[in-house]
Amino acid sequence: MSRYVYSFGAGRADGSAKMKNVLGGKGANLAEMTNLGIPVPPGFTISAELCNAYIADKTYPPELKGEVETALKRVEEMMGRKFGAATKPLLVSVRSGAAVSMPGMMDTILNLGMNDAVAAALAKETGNPQFAYDAYRRFVQMYGDVVLGLKGSRSPFEPLLAAKKKAKRVERDIDLPAEDMKALVGEYKEALKKLLPSGFPEDPQAQLWGAIEAVWRSWMGDRAVAYRRIHHVPETLGTAVTVMAMVFGNFGEDSGTGVAFTRDPSTGEKRFFGEFLVNAQGEDVVAGIRTPEPVALMEKKFPPAYRQLVETYQRLEQHYKDMQDLEFTVERGKLFLLQTRNGKRTGAAAVRVAVEMAEEGMITQQEALLRVSPDALDQLLHPMVDPAAKVSVLATGLPASPGAAAGQVVFEAHEAFEWAKDGKAVILVRAETSPEDIKGMAAAKGILTARGGMTSHAAVVARGMGKCCVVGAKAVEVDEAGGVFRSNGRTVKRGDWVTLDGSTGRVIDGQVKLVEPKLSGHFETFMQWADRERKIAVRTNADTPGDAKRARDFGAQGIGLTRTEHMFFEGDRIAAMREMIVARDVAGRKKALAKLLPMQRSDFEGIFTAMDGYPVTIRLLDPPLHEFLPHEPDLVEALARQMGISAEQLAAIVESLREANPMLGHRGCRLGITYPEITEMQAQAIFEAAVNVAAKGVKVIPEVEVPLVATVAEFKNQEAIVRRVAAEVFARAKREVHYLVGTMIELPRAALTADEIAQAAEFFSYGTNDLTQTTFGLSRDDAGRFLPAYVEAGLLANDPFQVLDQQGVGKLIKLGIELGRSVRKDLMVGICGEHGGEPSSVMFCHRVGMNYVSCSPFRVPIARLAAAQAALQDKGVEDRTGATV
Ligand code: ADP
Ligand code: MG
Ligand code: MG
Repeated sequence: MSRYVYSFGAGRADGSAKMKNVLGGKGANLAEMTNLGIPVPPGFTISAELCNAYIADKTYPPELKGEVETALKRVEEMMGRKFGAATKPLLVSVRSGAAVSMPGMMDTILNLGMNDAVAAALAKETGNPQFAYDAYRRFVQMYGDVVLGLKGSRSPFEPLLAAKKKAKRVERDIDLPAEDMKALVGEYKEALKKLLPSGFPEDPQAQLWGAIEAVWRSWMGDRAVAYRRIHHVPETLGTAVTVMAMVFGNFGEDSGTGVAFTRDPSTGEKRFFGEFLVNAQGEDVVAGIRTPEPVALMEKKFPPAYRQLVETYQRLEQHYKDMQDLEFTVERGKLFLLQTRNGKRTGAAAVRVAVEMAEEGMITQQEALLRVSPDALDQLLHPMVDPAAKVSVLATGLPASPGAAAGQVVFEAHEAFEWAKDGKAVILVRAETSPEDIKGMAAAKGILTARGGMTSHAAVVARGMGKCCVVGAKAVEVDEAGGVFRSNGRTVKRGDWVTLDGSTGRVIDGQVKLVEPKLSGHFETFMQWADRERKIAVRTNADTPGDAKRARDFGAQGIGLTRTEHMFFEGDRIAAMREMIVARDVAGRKKALAKLLPMQRSDFEGIFTAMDGYPVTIRLLDPPLHEFLPHEPDLVEALARQMGISAEQLAAIVESLREANPMLGHRGCRLGITYPEITEMQAQAIFEAAVNVAAKGVKVIPEVEVPLVATVAEFKNQEAIVRRVAAEVFARAKREVHYLVGTMIELPRAALTADEIAQAAEFFSYGTNDLTQTTFGLSRDDAGRFLPAYVEAGLLANDPFQVLDQQGVGKLIKLGIELGRSVRKDLMVGICGEHGGEPSSVMFCHRVGMNYVSCSPFRVPIARLAAAQAALQDKGVEDRTGATV
């Protein structure tokens, strides 16, 4: 018989942490904590498998009712209370939780099982009517918002509460006297009845099932769907539903609730870190409605509970072997744990925690490597506010998620989304964020909230996204309707620029210069461990000596792609380049090339020097020439004047160079074949630079690369020129350097005839941007119109320009490598497309036996880690705790 319900309580649970797929992360860990003897209120969890069925046809198996009834009875027995009873009533929470943690993205209902009779009973039993009616009014509001779907602008509750507080002149919700809370419940219900004729269900059983179904429905809620899309969580998981006895942090001054991390989720430092609110219920901390106090202050107010909390967090961390994120509540001095999970953290914290846990002997170094997702390293390399910049600070809040961002201020999530779609950098400014804002938060460069603490919604979500975030900037007064915020007497309007510093909490006026970060010792250690494991080399794509140097600092072991044309985009170089392109004969072209030669040579000298000891792949001129040409009339005129021809003549030349499909036109080796003098000049610049720096003691390893080859004949044509020029340069210089001549593989025909090409070519570099275009037969520049729709509809798992298409393009890559190595055993193979820095693609490159991947400088550490993880996977090493973050 299949079962749907798993109980936990009084030290024993049916489930365990291993059952996340069935119980969701929350339910599985509640079961695990129960089994560990940690104080957890009793309850039960309904299997996640029922969620998808419910969403599909709005039904659940008939046996479920009976199983829930039995499980609820057990909770009643353990608590010595009765659900819905008029004496010693039991209240429960109904909580969501999927196998993958999606903080705050789904719904939870607290204090369920209340009606007028139950509230009266609770007030009498506890002698604390204030508490009973506080719980009651919270419940009606939550039930109306979440289960009955009033959340949003239709919700009538907040204005009624605000009016009541104003009338009673109290500031905090919990300071309302009991009779006013009670009156408020009546007002809530009346307002509710006006909106929904069926009104508020007084029957606790009806409440329970209403809430269970609402949790299932919340799996398909907008914010949950958006979160899953952003974080690639499969929709088939579904959410489990946990029903558990309530414990009350809002009982009075001897009670409270909090959230804590076993280490600092922002930096990774090993210190207990959390926040606590006296006389409050769970969601008060997360919602940022009141600004909580540091958890350490609990020590004074609740000494035994605090001691037990410390003991518990240490135990949980040891048990799970990862940093934990805990929810707890103290009811009349007694501690209860309500949740534990592996804590979300910044990239920097992920690295530090992994390194320190390995150093503490809690996990192995290999586990530490598997535990950090390569993409998380991206954040470590994020820019920060230039320390030398003069800044004008508008306000200071809490540094919730590091990095820095500058952008234009918007106040609404949808606005952030729209503006970002138009290519604007935006900073989303809110009083506080809620899970509804998720799409706008993802679109923004940074997030600023006026309220909330380090564990507020905004802080947690931003850290998860690796996004710069400042919360609790108290001086900031947000006037969303007016489209401004005020801070310390200054006003910032919608569309104005601000800069956020997520590492210090500063909100800075205007657009401030950002600078690159310095890397910590933990990062260095971590990357050394990665380098020990990985089998393939990581190079960089770099077009300038500056890029080359930065990439080397990030650990690049050479250059996999230098795009020579990128050297020509600036200053007076573009003029010489244009002259070369529009030249009508060889003599004219050679004259222009002679101007370009010294510029190229000195760039190559710089790059070779920066890469001393490492190989440098230099690609011969590749792009369609018209990319360099002036099109605006005044630019045409200026160039014509400079060249001593008329503007009309030049315009005619520009027109004659126009191509119907330039990406498949006169470009790549086709240029060097029709204009051999271009290849000659470039080869001369490369080899002269090489002998010049070699003379100074630099170890240079040039690899000359012929682009867009389809046939071996094309390759041989260009190779002959390169080798002839090399011999000439070496003879003149009386010095030789070792070099290779190879090719890009970026056309299907090249991959298919790789055995022919490899007879002449000494290396292959897969140009997977073009290879993806030519394999799919789609233009990257035009794909924006339809590719996103393909991904959305599931016709493609990913954008193939971001994540290598392993089945299609990958097959050509594999075939090309096999064919190539069948004739040249030691053929060196690498990749230089965008995919060279994308973790799953790097793992693929490892598996097909490439010698190296090459990526942009900032992706180098990511590729190093991905390569190490691929090697560990090969060896069958796993993180025993499965705690990848
Ligand atoms: P989320 O997934 O959004 O964190 P939770 O199910 O964890 O939602 O619940 C929201 C808040 O309510 C949390 O702070 C949690 O600790 C608190 N909470 C949930 N169940 C109970 C309970 N039985 N007693 C007291 N507080 C609870
Ligand atoms: Mg929670
Ligand atoms: Mg290309």
